[in-house]
Amino acid sequence: MLTQPSKYHFGLIGYPLEHSLSPVLHQAAFKGCSLEGTYRLFPIPPGENAEKDIIFLLHQMRDGIIHGLNVTIPHKQAVIPYLDDLSREARAIGAVNTIVYKNRKLIGYNTDAPGLISDLKRLSFLHQYETIHPRVLILGAGGAARAVAYALYVSGYSITIAARRITQAQKLVNTLQPHLEEQNRKQIDAIRLDAGDLLPALDTFDLIVNATPVGMYPNVDVSPWPANLRFPNRAAVYDLVYNPIETALISSAKASGLKGDTGLGMLVYQAAKAFKLWTNCDASTSMWKEVIQ
Ligand code: NAP
Repeated sequence: MLTQPSKYHFGLIGYPLEHSLSPVLHQAAFKGCSLEGTYRLFPIPPGENAEKDIIFLLHQMRDGIIHGLNVTIPHKQAVIPYLDDLSREARAIGAVNTIVYKNRKLIGYNTDAPGLISDLKRLSFLHQYETIHPRVLILGAGGAARAVAYALYVSGYSITIAARRITQAQKLVNTLQPHLEEQNRKQIDAIRLDAGDLLPALDTFDLIVNATPVGMYPNVDVSPWPANLRFPNRAAVYDLVYNPIETALISSAKASGLKGDTGLGMLVYQAAKAFKLWTNCDASTSMWKEVIQ
């Protein structure tokens, strides 16, 4: 049972955190929900002392001093051994971005996956062609790609993971597969992020998601899409990178006549879902207003 304190204290563990939008989003949420609260940044560099610092903050949650923590790179996996339980999504994805203290238990959640789905629904990118067996091509095979793959598999998509190192893509497939229930002939496979390998399957994809950091500020002129590869005839393109607000990938996809958007909405929805887990208040509208000002 979550009891409501007179003032909430939330925070973010990660490194580096200087450019994090989370404090602004959560302040907007407190205001929108008429709640008193703070949202602090806890920059913890990776290394020998990280474990001690993380354990200290988790103790503060058990003591009721901190009421909720977000976790970002590079600690999303590292916090797991110190938690008492994980949501099904966090367990399958193998990464936690939100920690809740409930019934004397620290529980790890992953709100990136449902955050992505909420934004794809907002954009009408999800199941937009009503294909019987929709397919998504995911660029990259790191932590975010794993959350994207899980979210879209559960939403009915067959998944192809494309990575410059095919072994990394294959490893993601192999480790995710035991968490996925086989249904409706959905598949998950790996391919090299290379024009020659992608071309034969290109027009089978309904959705393309970039889960690499390629194109992120300050390297805004580069795209993860292979230079000598055309875009599919029809597909929506979603880029997890949201700085700049229109990436080189999305510009070129739009120039080819495709729909495209970047990941600011995913960021907003994952934050709103974390805030709701902690306070039971839906602050997504207040958070949106803050970022589009
Ligand atoms: P990560 O674990 O470091 O994985 C990055 C992946 O991209 C790896 O597969 C990496 O391959 C690949 N990659 C890197 N540079 C590449 C290049 N030049 N060409 C091809 N592949 C390349 O990072 P992550 O945590 O998954 O995050 C990925 C991106 O998603 C970041 O930009 C992050 O900010 C963004 N993100 C956004 C949201 C949101 O809410 N919008 C949420 C989560 C993440 P190698 O291992 O071979 O380098």
